[in-house]
Amino acid sequence: MRTKQFKSESKKLMDMMINSIYTHKEIFLRELISNASDALDKLYFMSLTDTNVGIAPDEFEIRLDIDKENRTLTVTDNGCGMTEEELDKNLGTIAKSGSYNFKQENEKTENVDIIGQFGVGFYSAFMVSDNVKVESRAYGSDEAFCWQSSGAEGYSISPCDKETVGTVITLHIKDNTEDENYDEFLDQYRISALVKKYSDYIRHPIKMEFTTKERVDTEEGKEPEYKDVTEIRTLNSMVPLWKKAKNELTEEDYNNFYKEKFFDYNDPTRVIHYKTEGQATYNALLYIPKQPPFDYYTKEFEKGLQLYSKGVLIMDKCADLLPDYFSFVKGLVDSEDLSLNISRETLQHDGQLKLIAKTLEKKIKGELEKMLKENREAYEEFFKSFGIQLKFGIYNDYGMHKDVIKDLIMFHSSKDKKYVTLKEYAENMAEGQGTIYYACGETDEKIEMLPQTDAVKEKGYEILYLTENVDEFALKVLMEYDGKKFMNICDDGLNLDSEDEKKALETENEAAKDMFAAMKEAIGDKIHAVRFTNKLKKHPVCLTSEGGISLEMEKTLNSMPGTGDNKVKAQLVLEINSAHPIAEKLKALYNDDKDTLADYAKLLYGEACLISGAGIDDPVEHSNLVCSLMTKD
Ligand code: ADP
Repeated sequence: MRTKQFKSESKKLMDMMINSIYTHKEIFLRELISNASDALDKLYFMSLTDTNVGIAPDEFEIRLDIDKENRTLTVTDNGCGMTEEELDKNLGTIAKSGSYNFKQENEKTENVDIIGQFGVGFYSAFMVSDNVKVESRAYGSDEAFCWQSSGAEGYSISPCDKETVGTVITLHIKDNTEDENYDEFLDQYRISALVKKYSDYIRHPIKMEFTTKERVDTEEGKEPEYKDVTEIRTLNSMVPLWKKAKNELTEEDYNNFYKEKFFDYNDPTRVIHYKTEGQATYNALLYIPKQPPFDYYTKEFEKGLQLYSKGVLIMDKCADLLPDYFSFVKGLVDSEDLSLNISRETLQHDGQLKLIAKTLEKKIKGELEKMLKENREAYEEFFKSFGIQLKFGIYNDYGMHKDVIKDLIMFHSSKDKKYVTLKEYAENMAEGQGTIYYACGETDEKIEMLPQTDAVKEKGYEILYLTENVDEFALKVLMEYDGKKFMNICDDGLNLDSEDEKKALETENEAAKDMFAAMKEAIGDKIHAVRFTNKLKKHPVCLTSEGGISLEMEKTLNSMPGTGDNKVKAQLVLEINSAHPIAEKLKALYNDDKDTLADYAKLLYGEACLISGAGIDDPVEHSNLVCSLMTKD
């Protein structure tokens, strides 16, 4: 027999287990029982369609046995068992998302108290034992194998005898040390209390032989005598947590269940537990996480809720229960109305499931709105984690779901660079303001530097600051809020002038028509037109865009895969502040020195590009122009 090495991540985790602090150690039992329960569920589920399983529903059980003399605690299940390969793969490596996530986080913040909060699976057995033996026979196999390990050095796998399908895990409990008492894990009362504490809701019976002393009738006047009486007791109540009444459950119950079941080491930010009757009868226990899981914004992430039928898990991640924009929600639904052996394909078309999904969406939306109203701080935290997903939700499916989500999104604004909702913006609009203004840029600070920002602010209008790529697309899809249209302050349609001011500007632009044509010619195709504007307060120039495609949208669209040569182009206009001394200078150059005017035009275009945040195409030319101007007599 050869000893195999653990994979490196597993070894690291194993070291941590072995050296973990004492108070965490008790969770090993919860972990082993959860695994056993999952194995029972798997075989039970198979038994619904496979008559060969041959175990009646009420025969599935988990057994705990204590042998004080030999210092062993045994966890036995008659679940699906593991083959030789599965023993090797499942117990030799840690590749599960939960453990991986835990490891990553732990590398960042060393010594954090994670183990106590978060399930680390099978390896936790090594917190209390110096030798772990796993004998298992997989369903459908006529061989059994024994996996054994004494810790970080490695493990061995060899054939063994086992009559029935299932798994027996034997832990050899460590000896007591000066400050750690391991004997307690060989005490029936302590084990029984641990089952109550952590595994009460497990839906299979967890049984243990209990020995109590019973008084034997003795003759009067004699010392009382006792005899040992043993009985098999079921230690857990078997009522799933979600079927219990809310007032029976504490926040801690909810949070522990969440962390264990959904592999998070943070408490959730909100728990939604409810029961409906009527058209769709189900219990739902939903959680809104604080932080996105590490793979949330990747293709690997799978959304979905656990789906139970009358307390039995029938699907681990039922995607149809959650719309994409609420894909961050974790939890489960237990319905009376679904058939147990429904297949995935028929499930998709199940009217009942659709009905459940619809009511879930409503409920989640309602809870998020409540959170926004009642606990702004928590909502903002939540929004930082998942706001992008909501904004994508507006934009996706041609805006089909925009009305569900529009009141859940927020942007920073010019008012105090804090989050505002569209509703809050609309309620705060100044008199006579008919439009919702927004501006795009990488950061709030960069947006504040845009030349257009001052003018809009000076009018007393609030500006939404859009700093994510998806933001402007989402607003374009929304088109309006409460009857008010959205406008990018860099759009050429931005017009804050009075009628008289507008007229005066038109006249001025008309008079300078030829000069603008000469300037445009010097700059070339990069811009669509040049003109004067009133909207710049102290800045000489800015870039605006005509036709609804902004510079930011151009950037985002062209960075998408598959655009190839079909690049989108924003139609840019170079606008010049008519009140700035540069306006007079340009007019003079047009009369006296057309070559210098051409250079000025290019320079001003370069300036405008820089200010807009877009950067310049040809920095060398720009720099040369600046230098030649500096050295001019
Ligand atoms: P996790 O439970 O998070 O998947 P574990 O380290 O606890 O991680 O277990 C690894 C895998 O080993 C499980 O996913 C399961 O496939 C298998 N396993 C563990 N215990 C049992 C058991 N009692 N019966 C059958 N399979 C088991």
